[in-house]
Amino acid sequence: MKPAPNSYKSTCCYCGVGCGVVVTKESNGQLSLEGDKEHPSNKGMLCSKGMNLHYTVMDQSDRLLYPQVRLNRSMPLQRATWDEALERTAAVFKTLIKKFGPDSVAFYVSGQCLTEEYYLVNKLIKGFIGSNNIDTNSRLCMSSAVVGYKLSLGEDSVPVCYDDIEAADVMYVTGANPAWCHPIIWRRVEAHKTANPDTKIICVDPRVTDTARSADLHLQIRPGTDIVLNNAIGRLLIENDYLDERFITDHTDGFELFRLQVMQRTLAEAADICGVPSADIALAAEWIGRSKGFLSFWTMGLNQSVIGVNKNLSLINLHLITGKIGRPGNGPFSLTGQPNAMGGRETGGLANILPGHREVVNAAHREEMEQFWNTPVRIADKPGLTATEMFEALADDKLKAIWIINTNPLVSMPDMNAVESALKKSRFIVVQDVSNRADTVHFADVVLPAAAWLEKDGSMTNAERRITYLPKVLDAPGEALPDSEILWRFAQKMGFEEAFNYKTTSEVYDEYVKVTKGTNIDVTGVSHQLLKEKRSVQWPLAAIGGRQSAVGSQKKPRQIDNATNGEVSTSHGTKRLFTDHQFYTKNKRAQIHPVPDENTSEPTDHQFPLVLTNGRIRDQWHTMTKTGRVAKLNKHIPQPFLQIHPEDAKERGILEGSLVTVSSRRGEVRVKAQITTDVRKGLCFLPMHWGKILGSNLVRANNLTSPLVDPKSKEPDFKFSAVQVALY
Ligand code: SF4
Repeated sequence: MKPAPNSYKSTCCYCGVGCGVVVTKESNGQLSLEGDKEHPSNKGMLCSKGMNLHYTVMDQSDRLLYPQVRLNRSMPLQRATWDEALERTAAVFKTLIKKFGPDSVAFYVSGQCLTEEYYLVNKLIKGFIGSNNIDTNSRLCMSSAVVGYKLSLGEDSVPVCYDDIEAADVMYVTGANPAWCHPIIWRRVEAHKTANPDTKIICVDPRVTDTARSADLHLQIRPGTDIVLNNAIGRLLIENDYLDERFITDHTDGFELFRLQVMQRTLAEAADICGVPSADIALAAEWIGRSKGFLSFWTMGLNQSVIGVNKNLSLINLHLITGKIGRPGNGPFSLTGQPNAMGGRETGGLANILPGHREVVNAAHREEMEQFWNTPVRIADKPGLTATEMFEALADDKLKAIWIINTNPLVSMPDMNAVESALKKSRFIVVQDVSNRADTVHFADVVLPAAAWLEKDGSMTNAERRITYLPKVLDAPGEALPDSEILWRFAQKMGFEEAFNYKTTSEVYDEYVKVTKGTNIDVTGVSHQLLKEKRSVQWPLAAIGGRQSAVGSQKKPRQIDNATNGEVSTSHGTKRLFTDHQFYTKNKRAQIHPVPDENTSEPTDHQFPLVLTNGRIRDQWHTMTKTGRVAKLNKHIPQPFLQIHPEDAKERGILEGSLVTVSSRRGEVRVKAQITTDVRKGLCFLPMHWGKILGSNLVRANNLTSPLVDPKSKEPDFKFSAVQVALY
């Protein structure tokens, strides 16, 4: 059904669920918003954040309205024209590149950026500046899942789709609280459970969350013991004959080594290490083994870990040894944190990849992109700096300039005091953002005002590989410009007029899709026009007969030309991958990786005896630069807090509501205590959203967090830091 003339279909720009919304411009000039009943991702439902999304653009009190520049940090920022700001930035970039080489500059961007913006910034720095120094806050979120998928399935590809929820009879939710953080997916799980009461929900989490409360079985493991648990379940699946021997033989490598690995620990040892009853682990294994549909969900509890990739592999192994993948209701489903983390990676939005999921270390891939872009320089053959490495390099003066787009690293990065010190020392900072709430604005030499959601157009890809188009509905206030336009104007100032001579984001998108031709994520069949007509499509979606929109006129969802990709459409028109069990690895076989189970996070000791974990609350998003502006959302939990177990509180003389100091080897936080058995003894929890209250940054969870990263994914160990708590 077509929306009313003053209504526009768009997509919620908070989390990776990617819910469809209908925004209406009312006659009084105000906006109203409701869920899009026709959107397959949410079918009209919205969570509290999504329902209040329009308020984030209606309140313009904190908007950046015009470019600002200063010649040094002792001077105040001063209003400038766009030409002045971009010419000043281009002059500094050119000087630094000439003197110190292309790796002296970097872009740090966001999973909130639209696909076209991601493509442009990657093209600019990788193809025209000659550095791979572009990374994104998705590094803090999904990179362990990306590496896990690549190592096991051969590609950064979510094999399942939302329709698999209704086909599953066991949901294994580990290191995630979708009841608060992916609420619309969780409502779908709950509705399925209500209609099918025999469906089993297993939740693995050191905390009692709303997800854990609604589970049939909560395995409240000690932090960092996820692999021990998954390996123990693997052992039980072997011992109790729940393997799919034929699938293992025909479609996987590595099972024998896996078997040897998991047999090294008895169930009793594993239960002791994890701190949960053996019988509960056995029950989980039995449910998984007997299931017809085994769907696993995970987010940051697995990913944000110094052993994050191995945690991912230990989970995916359970699907591979049971053959519970590529069939309805079966598969490992990494829940994307950000709205366009996946779209960003499609365009090469990490320091180690190129568009179309190509790799910077692959000479053939680099050459393909050099030819496609007709680059004036060779694409660098080594990965660029990752998110945490960028700030370390700024501190060491190896990196001279950083351009930060739509992300707030002064609240979101680990070991915040080190990041703050790096920004203070850095030579040149450009901040491109919507709001003056971004803490980095205060360190900027150049501030570029960006258009917000609804004020620009482009596309995003959600957690089930579904691409949607977001139309421009409103004019941006002041002189704010769409991020794409800022980037192509800057590239022109750098001297790359011909290659960045765009007029519309559709031109950018049309160029991007051509890059994907013949790759595993071929979207040559997609265009803005097709997305406007069909509302959303899932990748891969190759052009048929060379015609870009040919697929749009097909009555039947495509199954034919993707057979070699093992992709098939469900009855609802959504797609899962690997239905023919042909994986994207070189030999088309999935790889079972035996992984060691030791946690290598920083150890607790006498001085810092407790483990701190952090995470989200229901009604806030990231560093609150959007949700913090909405009064209704602030009412849910208005202040930061520390959850601590009653016995740990008693030992320290802490009462409910006491002001406490939480300290680690890196910094301090001061908040009120919340005494609860929702955390295990020895564990405490801080929400990650707050940056400052009344000018004090002593509420930033990341003052405390560990700088360790996973060696393969470079994702930080946010969920495990050694701390002490004391009465203030
Ligand atoms: Fe937006 Fe995510 Fe809520 Fe859907 S579940 S409305 S995408 S925040």
